[in-house]
Amino acid sequence: MVIAGGGFGGLYAARRLEHVLPPESARITLVSDTNFLLYTPLLPGAASGTLEPRHVVVPLRSELHRTDIRFGWVTGADPALSELRYRTLDGRSETLRYDHLIVALGSVSRVLPIPGLADHGLGFKTISEAIALRNRVLVNLEVAEASESPEQRREYLTFVFVGAGYAGVEGIAELQDFVADVIERYPRARLEGTRWIIVEAEDRIMPEIDPGLADFATRELQARGIEVRTGTRVSAVEENSVQLSTGERIPCRTVCWTAGVKPPAIVRELGLPLTERGRIDVDATMRVRGHRNVWAIGDAAAVPDPAARGTRPSPPTAQHAIRQGRRVAENVAATLGKGRVRPFRYRTLGVFVDMGRHKAVAQMFGLKLRGFPAWWAARTYHLAMMPGASRRLRLLIDWTVALLFERDSAELGQLGHPPSLRGFLETPGESGAPPAEAARAQAGPRGP
Ligand SMILES: Cc1cc2nc3c(=O)[nH]c(=O)nc-3n(C[C@H](O)[C@H](O)[C@H](O)COP(=O)(O)OP(=O)(O)OC[C@H]3O[C@@H](n4cnc5c(N)ncnc54)[C@H](O)[C@@H]3O)c2cc1C
Repeated sequence: MVIAGGGFGGLYAARRLEHVLPPESARITLVSDTNFLLYTPLLPGAASGTLEPRHVVVPLRSELHRTDIRFGWVTGADPALSELRYRTLDGRSETLRYDHLIVALGSVSRVLPIPGLADHGLGFKTISEAIALRNRVLVNLEVAEASESPEQRREYLTFVFVGAGYAGVEGIAELQDFVADVIERYPRARLEGTRWIIVEAEDRIMPEIDPGLADFATRELQARGIEVRTGTRVSAVEENSVQLSTGERIPCRTVCWTAGVKPPAIVRELGLPLTERGRIDVDATMRVRGHRNVWAIGDAAAVPDPAARGTRPSPPTAQHAIRQGRRVAENVAATLGKGRVRPFRYRTLGVFVDMGRHKAVAQMFGLKLRGFPAWWAARTYHLAMMPGASRRLRLLIDWTVALLFERDSAELGQLGHPPSLRGFLETPGESGAPPAEAARAQAGPRGP
C-alpha cells in the first residue's frame, strides 16, 4: 500500500491500515513533504502565541509504528503501471510500486489574479505563514508606536483578512484578541486604536458550517468590533492599501489571504480523472473513477458529501479528511477480504469556531454555545482529537500557562533565517594577529 500525503487524511488512513492489516500481509509506505501532521485547527493559536508552534504539529514517526515513511515530494504517477514517483530530500528520483494507492495530498491557497495580491498578501495555511503573520502584527505595532504620522499609524494598525472560512474567521479573531492583550505595552498605538476587517465574496461567512452557527459567529465578530464585509471582493492590493469592489480604499499594511483552497498542482500529474474544480473524481467509496486500485480522500478529492446526499463534494475540513482516512483504509482492507467496501458516511456532530482566549462559538448535539462554555467544549474536543498523549499534555500546559500569565510579545522574525557566517568573516589583520599569521590561520594547517 502506498499513501501520498501525511496530513489528516494520510495519517489516519495509515494508522487504520496498521490496525486492520496484519504486518505479514501488507507493507505500508507513506510519502510526504513534511515529516509531521499540521493540526490546522490550532494554527490560529500558534499565530497568536497561545500555543508553541511545535505543539500544533504531530511527528509522523511518533504516530506510525510500522509504516515506512519517506520524506519527499510526490512528482507524478502512472496508474496503468501502478507506480508513484517522488523526489527524495537529497534530490534522487524514486519510483514506488503499489497494490493500492491512497492519494491524500490536501490543498494549497487559491490565489486569484488580483493586482498586487501575490506581492503584498500573506497566506495562512502553513506553520511558517502563521509565525510570519504574528511577526508582521508585532512589527506593525512597533512601527506604529514609533511613528509621528497619524496616517501612517492608521495604516500599520489596520488588518484586513480576505475570505471568511475557518482560517479567516479563526485567524482574525485570535489575532485581534492577541493585539487587544498586548496593546497596553504600546501607549501611542493604543490611543490610535486598531481596525480589523474581514472581507467575504459570498453573502455569508463560513460556508463549511450551518448558516445558523455562521450567523452566530458573525454577531460575535461584530460585537468585538471586527467589521464583516460580506458580498464584497478585493479588487487590488498595494503595499499600503486594499481596494474593495464597493469602491472603498482601505489604508492598511497587512492583507491576509484566506479565500479558499484548491488541490496542489501535482494532482494534475497523477493521470487521474478530475472534476471541474480540479479535485480527484471519486465515487462514494472514495475509489477513483475508472481505477480499481487508486483511492483519494481529503481536500484533494471530491468525495460525495453524505450530508447533502452526495449532490456536492464534502467540504474541505479536517473532520471529513480524518473520517475519510479511516474509512478508505477499511475499504482497502475489504478488497483484501477483510469486511466489505462501504461508502463514506459522516454527519458532523459538533462544530467549533475558536475566537481567541476563552472565546468561541460552537454547535453540539443541536445546542449553540458561545463564550467560555463553547471555548471549553472546543478545547476538550481538540484534546480528544490531537493524536498522542504527549502532544495532549503539551497543549494542556500551554493553555494553562496562557490562563495564568500575560502574552508574549517578542517578535521572532529572525527564526529560520540565521545570519550567514560570511557577515562575520575576519579580514587578514583584523584579529590582531600580524597579517601573515592571520593568512596562515585561514589557509589551515596545510597552508603556505
Ligand atoms: C488555518 C486553518 C484552520 C483550519 N481549521 C479547521 C477546523 O477548525 N476544523 C476543520 O475541520 N478543518 C479546519 N481546517 C481545514 C483542514 O486543515 C483541512 O481540511 C485538512 O487539513 C485536509 O486534510 P488533508 O489530509 O486533505 O490535507 P492536509 O492535512 O493538508 O495533508 C496533505 C499533506 O500532503 C502533503 N503534500 C502536499 N503535496 C505534496 C507532495 N507533492 N509530495 C508529498 N507530500 C505532499 C502536505 O505537506 C500535507 O502533509 C483549517 C485549515 C486552515 C488552513
